[in-house]
Amino acid sequence: MTLTDAAAIAETLSLPTQAVIGGQITDAISAKTFASINPATGQELAQIAECGSADVDAAVAAARSAVDTGPWGAMAPADRRRLMIRFANLIDANAAELATLEALEGGKPIADTSSIDVPETVEAIRWHAEAADKVYDQISPSGPGVVSMIEREPLGVIGAVLPWNFPLMMAGWKLGPILATGNAVVLKPAEQTSMTTLRLAELALEAGLPAGVVNAVPGFGPAVGEPLGRHGHVDGVTFTGSTETGREFLRYSADSNLKRVTLECGGKNPLIVMADADNLDSIADHIATSIFWNAGQNCSSNSRLIVHSSLKAQLLDLVLERAGDWVVGDPLDPATKIGAIIEEAHMAKILDNIAAANEAGAELILGGNQVRADSGGWFVEPTIFDNVTPDMRLATEEVFGPVLAVTSFDQPDDAIELANRTEYGLAASIFTSDVRTAHLAARRIQAGTVTVNCYGEGDITTPFGGYKLSGFGGRDNGLAAHEQYTQPKTIWLDLS
Ligand code: NAD
Ligand code: MN
Repeated sequence: MTLTDAAAIAETLSLPTQAVIGGQITDAISAKTFASINPATGQELAQIAECGSADVDAAVAAARSAVDTGPWGAMAPADRRRLMIRFANLIDANAAELATLEALEGGKPIADTSSIDVPETVEAIRWHAEAADKVYDQISPSGPGVVSMIEREPLGVIGAVLPWNFPLMMAGWKLGPILATGNAVVLKPAEQTSMTTLRLAELALEAGLPAGVVNAVPGFGPAVGEPLGRHGHVDGVTFTGSTETGREFLRYSADSNLKRVTLECGGKNPLIVMADADNLDSIADHIATSIFWNAGQNCSSNSRLIVHSSLKAQLLDLVLERAGDWVVGDPLDPATKIGAIIEEAHMAKILDNIAAANEAGAELILGGNQVRADSGGWFVEPTIFDNVTPDMRLATEEVFGPVLAVTSFDQPDDAIELANRTEYGLAASIFTSDVRTAHLAARRIQAGTVTVNCYGEGDITTPFGGYKLSGFGGRDNGLAAHEQYTQPKTIWLDLS
């Protein structure tokens, strides 16, 4: 795709702006709307239905009847699989349109949305679809006098509250296991990025999923997320976003019907480079990708580089070289690697973190500024601070921007101690050429995913989620994700 191709698609796109509730594509009951802004230009893209608690009630009622009395709840798993695969294929067939929408509304590079966000969304839905009729229940070893079956039943109605950094992929990570296990869902997109979620819900209908199985209710957190979190007829909520908002969902649940809550929250992830690490060129690539990909707006980015002092100077030279390849630009230009920051307030937060690091005495060795201000959008250049001490805000707070904090160590134990000196525990990476060091460190680091000699998150087959303040109540991806959307039932049959 060239810039001209992408611009042409953008020009002719029809923008999805309405809620999808009970099979109807509809305005908010209040008829209110809010602006969706292109973060690369600061210009309005469209007016989106601004839903509230009455719309949430309607969506939850539609989802309830789809599972309680409608065809979805009564459907054989193999039929669910077939419908979900049609849904995945339709997403694939609309890939160019969805990739462009995601780039326009999220400020994400089209090179990423077309090669990562859309294909991984398709893959997530397909992978779980295929598992729908391949996971067996259990019979317990309770003795010859009984038959005791342990079945997993769908929870029923799930609220999925989504973030703005990977709108399609997070929708896919939630939809796959929610639908494969037989639940209905009310999707609540982040207010910054409604459109690809709304389009997904339209495509689910087009694929033949029964009305009410996939609903999408756009709007703001307090108006839509909170009523969903407090709803007495919602059986579970899955959330990806900030720890602060995640805590709210636990409160909503405690104050209402004790609905199941699964949280995937922030991170301040470490990347350790041990003295025996080899191939510094490749390590520099991983470091740059980890912190600059998606403009650092990524919960699993390794925003803390913890490097052995003997390698620091050489490695930082290589990282600085790589940083030059991370072109900040128009998200629709296929050459762009760093797109826009999601909104002005978030850019201000990133710049404030940079100012605080300067003030605290960290050494700025790259970047540090807003760029492309004449675009009307919000862009921050790749930024690196050396000599960050563990007590500095830059070492402890999630910035969610392209800002790397570098700290060095001399003793291997100190590296692990520094890595664990955080309230978060989502992910970590370690580079070493010693297999024992790798295994020992992987066990000692308190994080849901530890990658060795690479940066990454695993894939759709591996559970993803956090220790400590990074997560609660379950995991995305893998068959582990099926557990949080189902509950075990014991059926005990006396044979005597
Ligand atoms: P947020 O957690 O407030 O928003 C995430 C979702 O929750 C959105 O859909 C939002 O509308 C909804 N929400 C917000 N307040 C709510 C409330 N009181 N009740 C119910 N739902 C509510 O995230 P944010 O404010 O957009 O970003 C703040 C910070 O969160 C970022 O700077 C970043 O550090 C972190 N973040 C993390 C992730 C992640 O992938 N883990 C994603 C986005 C943001
Ligand atoms: Mn918030």
